[in-house]
Amino acid sequence: MSDSLKIDYDVIIIGGALSGSSTALMLLRENPKLNILIIEKNPKFGYRVGESTVEISSFFLGKILGLSNYLNQNHLIKQGLRFWFYQSNENSFSQCSEVGSPYHVRLPGYQVDRSTLDEHILSMAVDAGAQLLRPATVKKVELQLGDLQKVTYQHDDKICVANGRWVVDASGVRCLMSKQLGWYRKNEAHPISSIWARWKNINSMEDLNFAQDFPDWEKRCHGTRWTATNHFVGKGWWAWCIPLKCGDVSIGLLYDERIVTLDQNLGLLERMRKLLNEHPVARRVMQNAEPLEKDIHYRKNLPYYSRQYFDDGIALVGDAAAFIDPLYSAGLDWVAYTTSAAVKLIMSERNNDDITDLLGQLNDGFIQSYDRWFNSLYLNKYFYIGEYDLMQIAFRLDLGLYYLGVVIPTFEKGRNFPVLPPYATANTSIIKFMCWYNRCLADIGKKRIEKNIIGKKNSNHFFQFNSYVANRLIILRLTMAILDLFKILILNNSLFKLNSNKSDGLSTTD
Ligand SMILES: Cc1cc2nc3c(=O)[nH]c(=O)nc-3n(C[C@H](O)[C@H](O)[C@H](O)COP(=O)(O)OP(=O)(O)OC[C@H]3O[C@@H](n4cnc5c(N)ncnc54)[C@H](O)[C@@H]3O)c2cc1C
Repeated sequence: MSDSLKIDYDVIIIGGALSGSSTALMLLRENPKLNILIIEKNPKFGYRVGESTVEISSFFLGKILGLSNYLNQNHLIKQGLRFWFYQSNENSFSQCSEVGSPYHVRLPGYQVDRSTLDEHILSMAVDAGAQLLRPATVKKVELQLGDLQKVTYQHDDKICVANGRWVVDASGVRCLMSKQLGWYRKNEAHPISSIWARWKNINSMEDLNFAQDFPDWEKRCHGTRWTATNHFVGKGWWAWCIPLKCGDVSIGLLYDERIVTLDQNLGLLERMRKLLNEHPVARRVMQNAEPLEKDIHYRKNLPYYSRQYFDDGIALVGDAAAFIDPLYSAGLDWVAYTTSAAVKLIMSERNNDDITDLLGQLNDGFIQSYDRWFNSLYLNKYFYIGEYDLMQIAFRLDLGLYYLGVVIPTFEKGRNFPVLPPYATANTSIIKFMCWYNRCLADIGKKRIEKNIIGKKNSNHFFQFNSYVANRLIILRLTMAILDLFKILILNNSLFKLNSNKSDGLSTTD
């Protein structure tokens, strides 16, 4: 270890939101004597996206971090996913097709207010012994791998230096370290952008006037539609609608720049509203909606990744590591895996283990994982996302294979949470199958767009999707979805035309 630098901390964490505070908390549970500094830029967390949890992130928050009671008391219980399709903007509300469960879901999920949740976990980390500097901004990190890392930060107008054996970058989309190290790459194969805001005066689907106006629509669902993540979908776009415990509703638009051109003459909110107004369900829900001032956000070209995620002294976690697409709300799953991996790596080194092999496994695993999840789930998805017949099948398969390959193995391991996403290492045949059907469906979607026959099958369907459970019954349900996939491919003359261009996939190792 260098003589000139004195060790101040075992670990310095840049960013105290979910990824940073979870890493600190898990490290301190492993070893309460660790000396950890969290440097957080904001005096208080404001509105942030990442509000909908799915099976893995709920398991991580509830069972690994131990927040089940807190989540049940302070946030909303989520009722799965629900998709709404429309054929034309002249459809009536009840003609729009729906994919969703008539009952409540079987596994826990939450709609979380991130500002509240992140403050809570940060305070738990501080109670466990982490030191917090806030507001303070990290300006520069000088790495000496295998030795001490020198972190320069600004606090109360003063420039200060702290030395730590490890730096954990949890700076979110700023990606402080991957940019500084030249590891950062944009994912140009997926040009999606987003506009989002929080709203008040939203019409909840549970309001009596919905039931009065559409009695058959009301009758067919016995559960609570509103606390699902409701997805309004259209040609090349989708929007989430997430209610929060405080009464505000988070609504955001995601669109593929290759398919959707928004009116640049309009302000951000008007652009979003104009598109959402085309959709009869979104139109009804947002009839009287008013955005909360100062809570309007826009981000272009969302996805990116890193050429490397870990080294001897540095770990990237959460959004500071990579981001793909929020369609299936997997951002917090990524937080769960990357923070768990960082904890494993740091604890191994602090326990004087040789970390060479682990470093290799983690870097290879996360690089593979990004490629696999991206190519199998998201590549060109927006070409068919608004098509009821195609997306309904994709949803059943995507979610079913998530259960089979990710949810079930993770739940079976209990508190022994995996440090690598399960599909990162094995199951290549499943990933190949996912890439294949996603390509086939995207090809059909592209052809429909070319022929201008998009959305023609979008009216008057209700696919009663009973939520999956984490047992082997999933195989039966997946078999049924695969049979329906083949039917769709035959109907669209696509089964034997598998000439889809494989080379448009992403390989982050290139
Ligand atoms: C449009 C959109 C919708 C999404 N929806 C979902 C969803 O429904 N479900 C889901 O699971 N995920 C979703 N995500 C992803 C999710 O938001 C992120 O994965 C998650 O918020 C990442 O948390 P984080 O702690 O890594 O980063 P952040 O929450 O961004 O926190 C980073 C922290 O670092 C601090 N910081 C930054 N720079 C510095 C610095 N130099 N010095 C000190 N501190 C610094 C910041 O102040 C901030 O507090 C969505 C993402 C987007 C873009």
